[in-house]
Amino acid sequence: MGADEWSALAGVSSTALALAAVVVALVAFRSEHQRARFEGARALHHDLTTGEVAAARKVIGSLHYGGFGSSSAPVDWSEALTSYFTLLWCFERIEAGRTALVRGVVRSSDPRNKVVDYLDALVAWHVAEYACGFAIARRKFAEASAQEVSDGDSTSGFGRLLHALQERGLVDRAYRAGICAGTGCPCPCHQQ
Ligand SMILES: [Zn+2]
Ligand SMILES: [Zn+2]
Repeated sequence: MGADEWSALAGVSSTALALAAVVVALVAFRSEHQRARFEGARALHHDLTTGEVAAARKVIGSLHYGGFGSSSAPVDWSEALTSYFTLLWCFERIEAGRTALVRGVVRSSDPRNKVVDYLDALVAWHVAEYACGFAIARRKFAEASAQEVSDGDSTSGFGRLLHALQERGLVDRAYRAGICAGTGCPCPCHQQ
């Protein structure tokens, strides 16, 4: 092998090495990103299960499962209304985070799909529960104050999240956002 050939070979191998370094960096960059995405999904779920949202769930839960009429425990309606919106806005944040995750995903092999799967599996049963729970709470607010809760825009994030999870087969399609007719609603509250 002549000097020219050696230097050509050296050129190729240093290019290959540089390329390998780029690939390694890219994989590390991607896995770092993937880790950050999982962290983001975990934080969204954490938001739903801790702090003021967890406290709000207790309040709405007692409305949801507490039955109707004078036999139920006295309710602080202003606290209940605050809890109602605290929860709705939490689902709105989850929906916004999920939307940001799926934006631009075109291939099923995209690593972001794994994060979406993870998030969906964590929140699906909560979403199913509140599809009925919000409806029951609204009905009780109306019953107690003789007027409807004006929650228009605040419910749209929850509605989109419910729809997305139903499309994926993770939540029963019989659930409808903020609407519960009792019969046909699969929520366990009706089996009490
Ligand atoms: Zn129901
Ligand atoms: Zn229910």
